[in-house]
Amino acid sequence: MSAEERKDWDTYFMDIAYMVSTRSRCPRRHVGAVLVQGKKLLGTAYNGAPSGVPDCSEAGCMISEEVELVVTDGREEMVKKQRCIRTIHAEQNLLLFTDRIDREGSTVYVTDEPCWTCSNMLANSGIVEVIYHRSYPKDEGKVKKLMEQKGIVFRQMDNYEPPHQTRMKVSN
Ligand SMILES: [Zn+2]
Ligand SMILES: [Zn+2]
Repeated sequence: MSAEERKDWDTYFMDIAYMVSTRSRCPRRHVGAVLVQGKKLLGTAYNGAPSGVPDCSEAGCMISEEVELVVTDGREEMVKKQRCIRTIHAEQNLLLFTDRIDREGSTVYVTDEPCWTCSNMLANSGIVEVIYHRSYPKDEGKVKKLMEQKGIVFRQMDNYEPPHQTRMKVSN
């Protein structure tokens, strides 16, 4: 992109969400989320342990193993999955650190497609639009249905390249 070329608003706010995600200390996942009303930035958050308690970089990830039903081509299979439960998800932190009045009618930009729990909370938070970049297929079906039921615009940014310095390798 040339210096004179201005970024569109989606790119601008998603870039900020990615910058925010670099604050995360969980080596498994770096997620950033921002709250936007009109063109105004009203809040930023990333996934992390509650403030004042050791985070993943100090205490290690807190791994929880879960068994999950996966349906592929109509065939059901139980798959074991590990995830870090030490952190509060970025979307939940965003809700904890913003006011309801600011959220009413607002948009959330989030680096990763929200999980089911975050989506359920976002659906009840006053926001009207969720824009994400990376897919999270695990919960996608039920999340999309919920957003549709709530009339929340749920949109993935295609052809988007995160700022180079925000890229990290994550292990799932
Ligand atoms: Zn972790
Ligand atoms: Zn979540």
